[in-house]
Amino acid sequence: MIGIRIHGRGGQGAVTASRLLADASYRDGKFSQAIPMYGTERRGAPLVAYVRIDDVRVRERELVHEPDVVIVLDPLLSKKQSVASGLKKGGLLILNSSLPPEKVEIAGDIKIATVDATKIALETLKLPITNTAILGAFSKSVGYPTMESIEKSIRNQFPGRVGEMNIAAIHQSYEEVTPAVQATHTEPVVEESDIAVGGYGVLKDVSSWRVFTPIIDLDKCTGCRACWLFCPETAIQWKDNRPEIEYHKCKGCGICVEECPVKCIAFERVVA
Ligand code: SF4
Ligand code: SF4
Repeated sequence: MIGIRIHGRGGQGAVTASRLLADASYRDGKFSQAIPMYGTERRGAPLVAYVRIDDVRVRERELVHEPDVVIVLDPLLSKKQSVASGLKKGGLLILNSSLPPEKVEIAGDIKIATVDATKIALETLKLPITNTAILGAFSKSVGYPTMESIEKSIRNQFPGRVGEMNIAAIHQSYEEVTPAVQATHTEPVVEESDIAVGGYGVLKDVSSWRVFTPIIDLDKCTGCRACWLFCPETAIQWKDNRPEIEYHKCKGCGICVEECPVKCIAFERVVA
């Protein structure tokens, strides 16, 4: 399985990019999952979306904390956020930048490929919307999804002339992305804590959404971590080798209850 994190700003289409990547991968016969983060984002605000692609069914619902690939749609974001945070050793950063990868000031044992997706978007779409432009670069750098499947996904999402303009963008980025090279910069320019990758629960208190509240019986808990893995809101923390629910992040979806193999999470009605 590969996990992908996409950084963008509201209006740049990071969520659409995640859906197109997942859809095109599915058309290639893979299993995939797109996780858009709808929160308090607005146009211009930094946001993230996630994708998982695998040869077998994807069961995780957690955010992708340690991605294999990070895509950055906005060149200025990498100066404000630690976009390589959590990226696996040897992982790939695909950056929208007019700079060659050797000049990118991002440190780590990672590879960097760059493509001037803003220039491509302006030339093909006449708008600085870089989400589709960077997908061709992804296909070239990672080896999938195939361009044919990305084209089908784009035509499905944007029928007619707009779709054809976006297809021109992906072909141009496929041709223009640089080869991935080892990051040469040694000092991180941005602090780790500057990244914002949380879910609704990180952004605000969602405890009032709950109709039922999960309660873990720690005496029966085997410490398998399934609840921690599957909680879509990162509401379950792992402390002292035990799960601990941060209730202000818990929206009461019940996924942890379903996934616990020994059924030691009760789901109790909230009495109001
Ligand atoms: S019920 Fe709460 S803790 Fe359990 S998976 Fe859903 S959000 Fe996470
Ligand atoms: S899924 Fe159940 S058994 Fe596993 S860690 Fe969570 S509460 Fe414990």
